[in-house]
Amino acid sequence: MPGSLPFSISKSESFFEKLNEWIGDVFYDILPEAGFDLRDEQVFMAFQLEKAFKDKKVIFAEAGVGTGKTIVYLLYAICYARYTNQPAIIACADERLIEQLVKKEGDIAKLEKALDLNVDVRLAKSRDQYLCLNKLDALINDDNEAYNSVHESLPRFVHESSTLQKFHRYGERTDYPHLTDEQWSNIGWDALQDCLACSRRHRCGLTLQREHYRNAADLIVCSHDFYMEHIWTKESRKREGELPFLPDGSCVVFDEGHLLEFASQKALTYRYTERTLETLLTRIMDNDIRDKTLGLMENAITINEQLFAELVKYSSESKSSEKMTVKKTPSINSLAENLLWTLESLQEELVFESEMFVINDYNLKIVEEYLDQISYSLTLFARRSVGINWLENHNGEKTLVIMPKMVEEILRKEVFSQDKPFVFSSATLSDNKSFDYLAKSLGIDEYASFSVNSPFEYEEMMEIFLSDFASGDFQSKAQYTLEQLKSTKGKALVLFTDKNELYSFKKYTEAYNIDFPILFEGDAEISTLVSRFQNDVDTVLCSVNLWEGLDVPGEALENVILFDLPFPPNDPVFAAKREEAEDPFNEVDMPYMILRLRQGIGRLIRSHADRGTVHLLLDTQLEASVMDRILSVLPVQPKKAIR
Ligand code: SF4
Repeated sequence: MPGSLPFSISKSESFFEKLNEWIGDVFYDILPEAGFDLRDEQVFMAFQLEKAFKDKKVIFAEAGVGTGKTIVYLLYAICYARYTNQPAIIACADERLIEQLVKKEGDIAKLEKALDLNVDVRLAKSRDQYLCLNKLDALINDDNEAYNSVHESLPRFVHESSTLQKFHRYGERTDYPHLTDEQWSNIGWDALQDCLACSRRHRCGLTLQREHYRNAADLIVCSHDFYMEHIWTKESRKREGELPFLPDGSCVVFDEGHLLEFASQKALTYRYTERTLETLLTRIMDNDIRDKTLGLMENAITINEQLFAELVKYSSESKSSEKMTVKKTPSINSLAENLLWTLESLQEELVFESEMFVINDYNLKIVEEYLDQISYSLTLFARRSVGINWLENHNGEKTLVIMPKMVEEILRKEVFSQDKPFVFSSATLSDNKSFDYLAKSLGIDEYASFSVNSPFEYEEMMEIFLSDFASGDFQSKAQYTLEQLKSTKGKALVLFTDKNELYSFKKYTEAYNIDFPILFEGDAEISTLVSRFQNDVDTVLCSVNLWEGLDVPGEALENVILFDLPFPPNDPVFAAKREEAEDPFNEVDMPYMILRLRQGIGRLIRSHADRGTVHLLLDTQLEASVMDRILSVLPVQPKKAIR
């Protein structure tokens, strides 16, 4: 039954001693009897984790592919949750990976079966993974089949007005695999929705699910993004009388922990989208409000347009990154100041308007909350010279992003100062046998660490081919890639570092008759693409984001083509990191590239039975020192590709 420890313990016995005995039984007897391989690397990892849990420390657990590290951390997390009566938080790199952990044939299900355990595990997905009923309603009409079919599939209790007795999970992104990412963005939750004030919140899939996962007894599984959003918002949510997104966990495991820094950067920002102000203000403009308030609103919208026009004019693209560098000119500063002043005046006028009751309370509340946020963001941007700013442009929608501080300061204070065990698990956490690069970037001052190699005999399982191309010669690289795909009749993962290159390759392939399917990230929901790739063995999957985490054993993935070396982008965040480093290339660029390269290569061999090839496409200008570092991390001696 859930809740009780899987071993007996009396009041006079030590939890950790009994846990240690039980872990020994599990790895030496119970799991081998249930058909699991006994792996020395796994047993070593298990006893290392015990110390971290006992001392409530941060531990970097670097274990190669095939070690079975997930099983190890799950055993500790479940026992520790039951011992402390608080669920453990397992944060995976993204929303797709949280599904992998809880799937029918996943590691949690395997442990339940082998150990006769009943684990209470619940998913905490990010808000943008849920349908917004209000947005969907606004798009329902006779012509729009995609949205109409989503509406028809809603459970009956969504439309009923009686008290809600029973509900079930609904409205998650994965429930609508046929929708493209763009279609989903039109009906999924976004930052402009005010769930707290929404009249449908008690029947909305998003809020129902949140109440459900908060009561998990053993494990709450979420993404790094969601965990960091929780950290960033928990104090403000408490101030507003709301519960934080996640309960206090007994311990936190960061699966694919080397990626936490990027989730932190994403979460610890203020985002101000060009459209937000106009959308908000037009919500209340129709009302019978005073001319002075109306004038201020119109002014604010005009200045906002001018500000974004100027931001676009003075921003420059960063290769392989959506973060555009903004040059803060006097004209930008003056427009931001002017907008700020206008919004402050508008906020004062809205206080008078609210006393006259001419504006709908719900709309006024949303507008006031957002004006507060926008003013704060603009203050950081215009009046304080701390932090990093950049501009993003998604399908013409521009967003000014303000990151107030380097993430390590916040992580040090808000996360790693807590007295609880934090486990980082990944095949790639160290650089040149040191964990300092990662620890420094996450604000971790003290940690325990260990590395165990993969139990696989790579020499017998894989070949690596190197080929070089003149800088910028996309055509030759695309041709080479397509030839490899044809020679293996698909069964390949092609990894890009830049979305534009992925699109160009998509275009390139359209001119050829290819007799196996090629899937491109972005064309459908990502888990759906991965499952098609896995089940239809000849398929090729082209991706920018699957350098990590993709676990497809078997013949569907016998080839990995790395279209470029995964150096970090030249964007404002990396520019700031480089500025802080004494030797930017060796302290920032190289460790990032090497970690990601090892991850990309690691997609190939996922089980003892796997065999295959990796193709690494290089630049003819690559420096010898970089080549040496690459050679030092390749699991087998590479060969020169014949072209
Ligand atoms: S609770 Fe939030 S996500 Fe749900 S319908 Fe309301 S605004 Fe949309």
